[in-house]
Amino acid sequence: MSELGESPLAAGDRQLSVAQARAAIAAALQPIAQTETVALERALGRVLGADVVSPIDVPAHDNSAMDGYAFPGSELAADGSGTLRAVGTLYAGAPYAGTIGAGECLRIMTGAVMPEGLDTVVPLELCRVDGDQVQIAPGQVRPGDNRRRRGEDLSAGRPALRAGRVLRPADLGLTASLGIAQLQVMRPLRVALFSTGNELRTLGQTLDAGSVYDSNRYSLMGTLQRLGMEVIDLGVVADDRAALQATLEAAVARADVVLTSGGVSMGDADYTREILASLGEVSFWKVAMRPGRPFAFGPLRRPGDQPPSWLFALPGNPVAALVTFYTFAREALLRLAGADPEPLPILQARCTTAIRKRPGRTEFQRAVVEPAAAGGWQVRLTGSQGAGVLRSMTEANALLVLGHEQGSVAAGDLVDVWLFDGLV
Ligand code: AMP
Ligand code: MG
Repeated sequence: MSELGESPLAAGDRQLSVAQARAAIAAALQPIAQTETVALERALGRVLGADVVSPIDVPAHDNSAMDGYAFPGSELAADGSGTLRAVGTLYAGAPYAGTIGAGECLRIMTGAVMPEGLDTVVPLELCRVDGDQVQIAPGQVRPGDNRRRRGEDLSAGRPALRAGRVLRPADLGLTASLGIAQLQVMRPLRVALFSTGNELRTLGQTLDAGSVYDSNRYSLMGTLQRLGMEVIDLGVVADDRAALQATLEAAVARADVVLTSGGVSMGDADYTREILASLGEVSFWKVAMRPGRPFAFGPLRRPGDQPPSWLFALPGNPVAALVTFYTFAREALLRLAGADPEPLPILQARCTTAIRKRPGRTEFQRAVVEPAAAGGWQVRLTGSQGAGVLRSMTEANALLVLGHEQGSVAAGDLVDVWLFDGLV
């Protein structure tokens, strides 16, 4: 395995905490480097491949933040009062050609350029206007008020957005405000996806005794699509040495990541380990979590001098597959894609029921976070928490997370919740 370099992953079985497993994965990953150029309107959700440096000051000129009257602040008396004569009007998008003299001001619209020497705007509602006379009462404005400064949003030559950012709607608007029409983004991460198990049937097949439809491939496809990744769907693979070997080789040839579910339990055939050992440096972990274990991760060799393909072998139980995906794979895949991801938000909410829990493992329970009658947020569990009960996941909008060291929870205690509705 020396061609894969020094790995922080010790081979073989290890019992790890969730935090240890996440840290070991983060330390091992090598992100992709290739970028491509896309039009701004195609860039939502993509990973920015290079800093966006502002070519201009935004705003490009000092301008008014209000509808009102513009004048030099030096016209105000010590108590802030003043009497000025309006001699013209400034509209947004139409620079003023004239000049003003002592004791004069200009009617100004929001966004209109402030001419040289005019640094203060009194909003319309704060002055008394009589013909061309504008009266400002004491204490309403100070010199410099209500002026947006050139470059206050962004200054020329400074990075406006950093490489690694997953682009959001406001980022697209910000880029457009700089006059930039295209962005350099990371190429999409290519993820080969397959399910393993003789009992699995694909959609369109009939269910015979003891078989189930392959649901994991669809859940996981959804998570990958949410992350903007390219899915290479390799279907269902039987519990069979030759089939598994052939599928893994096909996956490695085409993908940066190989994402599988099922077939890594202790009871599963030894050939899985043999094949994976022959293809790379995969660790099988017994992670102290529920639901979730077992889980396998590691680099698989690719031909030539290509970087490795990263295997994430998730457990087969439908809830465990998703929970381990969110816990271990989501952030890791974003990092591999060149992103500098923000972790999913963890909030605190009052637990409506007592929950028994032993310290020494992390537990994830499917839950609904909702407003509490007394204010703030409360969280309740969604029915059966069996690792195969996918319905409990569809009914949930969050995972209630009981940390490694945490013991039992009493009704009314504050607990951590991991919101995923709409996010992941
Ligand atoms: P395994 O991890 O292969 O031992 O599978 C654990 C449980 O999850 C078994 O009951 C499997 O039938 C079920 N399972 C495995 N893969 C899938 C899948 N792709 N879709 C639905 N259920 C699955
Ligand atoms: Mg199986």
